[in-house]
Amino acid sequence: VHIGVPKEIKANEHRVALVPAGVAALVAAGHSVWVEQGAGLGSGFSDDHYRATGAQIAPDADATWAAAQLIVKVKEPIRAEWPRIRAGQVIFTYFHFAADRELTEAHLASGATCIAYETVALPSGELPLLTPMSEVAGRMAVHEGAKYLEKHHGGSGVLLGGVPGVAAAHVLVIGGGVVGSNAARMAAGLGARVTLLDLSLERLRHLADTLPANVQTLYSNRHNLLEQLASADLVIGGVLIPGAAAPKLIRREDLKLLRPGSVIVDVAVDQGGCFETTHPTTHQEPTYLVDGIVHYAVANMPGGVPRTSTLALTNATFPYLLQLADKGWQQALRDNPALRQGLNVVAGQVSYRAVAKAFDLPY
Ligand code: NAD
Repeated sequence: VHIGVPKEIKANEHRVALVPAGVAALVAAGHSVWVEQGAGLGSGFSDDHYRATGAQIAPDADATWAAAQLIVKVKEPIRAEWPRIRAGQVIFTYFHFAADRELTEAHLASGATCIAYETVALPSGELPLLTPMSEVAGRMAVHEGAKYLEKHHGGSGVLLGGVPGVAAAHVLVIGGGVVGSNAARMAAGLGARVTLLDLSLERLRHLADTLPANVQTLYSNRHNLLEQLASADLVIGGVLIPGAAAPKLIRREDLKLLRPGSVIVDVAVDQGGCFETTHPTTHQEPTYLVDGIVHYAVANMPGGVPRTSTLALTNATFPYLLQLADKGWQQALRDNPALRQGLNVVAGQVSYRAVAKAFDLPY
């Protein structure tokens, strides 16, 4: 199969969908891989790195898309890329169709087969191509929180781990899923005193068993939340109710419980955020103040660490990509029910219920 790897052109996107190791494995399996010139640079992979593992370097985007039967990307094709899509071409990437009607209509009109990373789902319900980005965001939330606690960034001037004779900071993590458990582990590793809240007792049992002793688990209700808030230096929000907006667990009036200069990192901002005072920010301008509390709410946190994010994402996507290339998409989807869940658009038809429902399209 002829596989194309375009350079991502969406603003501030530095990830790439395939790394040189992936090229080597695809070429060994008899496929040909065309990587657009410079596609890997933002993640630290040069054209020579790709050449060395058997890729061909395509001079531009048109050449990358033109002959490819299978296109692998990171972000949804943006408007400038739409004319390059050909009927029958298979595109494997994040699409997030349900959030964008025009995007959906353009892909329906293209006649391409669209397999979306974000809806690939294991029988357990886990979304294996979203998990690595939550791992990155959860861990990064602690770095960012630590940075904005520094005085010259508007913070209260507290060091997370304290020092001998000085108490460590209190980090409150709301939600004990992928984001929350990674944040808790990272904060604990830096020596902070960590409290982790979740609604699921089963989840709390597992976390209490597996996280270090400086992480305390606590059942999530408003009483416990407010009690913990009163002593928190850094609050990290990582709740998710699948398919719904995040619940606003912390109201504006609750902020007065925090010491001025305390920091909120709302990772759940992409689902609306779990703080009433959250609005999305960017890596260029990541924070703002409300009532003396520093808010960090970058909607694409993994974009700040593209090298790690690319490696984490491609570790997860590659096995599916290889199946699509080896078997053809129809057989690959028949053989792998998780991948079958990724099919969103085929031959001008929506094939994913939530997308059809979002725009009242036939399914
Ligand atoms: P997850 O499903 O693994 O975990 C969510 C957890 O929240 C679950 O354990 C659930 O029991 C818990 N929860 C639900 N309601 C709660 C409540 N009222 N109190 C306490 N806990 C509650 O999800 P995840 O992968 O950890 O993702 C969390 C959020 O982070 C999602 O909105 C996701 O989209 C977002 N995210 C954002 C970025 C970013 O760059 N900003 C990156 C990755 C993920």
